[in-house]
Amino acid sequence: MRLLLVEDEVGIAASLKRGLTADGFAVEVAADGKTGLWMASEIDFDIIVLDLMLPGLNGFSVCHEIRERGVWTPILILTAKTGELDEIESLDSGADDFLTKPFSYPVLLARIRSLLRRGVRERPTVLEADGLRLDPATRSCWRNDVLISLTPREFDLLEFLMRSGARVLSKDEILEHVWNPEFEGSPNIVEVYVGYVRRKIDRPFGTETILTVPGSGYRLAERGR
Ligand code: CA
Repeated sequence: MRLLLVEDEVGIAASLKRGLTADGFAVEVAADGKTGLWMASEIDFDIIVLDLMLPGLNGFSVCHEIRERGVWTPILILTAKTGELDEIESLDSGADDFLTKPFSYPVLLARIRSLLRRGVRERPTVLEADGLRLDPATRSCWRNDVLISLTPREFDLLEFLMRSGARVLSKDEILEHVWNPEFEGSPNIVEVYVGYVRRKIDRPFGTETILTVPGSGYRLAERGR
């Protein structure tokens, strides 16, 4: 099994490499994000273990970029911080699993083996409608060849609309799916965010992808797939 370890701390990298080699892995080490990204794109690995805090390009960016390049090797992110945000960001950036430092070697090994058993996951389908493409794996959005930058909430809103195709979605339904169920603000927040999204995906292009259905809600102009 070929394993790429992207870790800048020399001591940790050396001890992990020693352990993993003894456990039968062919280990390559990259000491910074850029080198890691290059190796992940150019060499065929079975699994990538990626530290989050790296000089230059951090682990999230490396992970995101690896997926952007169409490489679907399982990725385990090592994070030094604890916090749900890191975990969510890790998975959002296209990682398969994460492990918080400090961890014990047997736990790391177990996680690696579990990811290998799962195998390369299927790439989530890119959603398309009306010249608009939304990639849930890399959380990027394109209109033709123009990359559109969306906030996480805007992305979730657009993803929900695109997944629902031509079905009309009420504000309440959107609130329930895109905001958390405990959200107690006004459903008008949906209107505000639809406005934000339109300003990014439609207005600059003279298109009309999100339609308002008076008294009912919103739907997509063209059925997505
Ligand atoms: Ca580090």
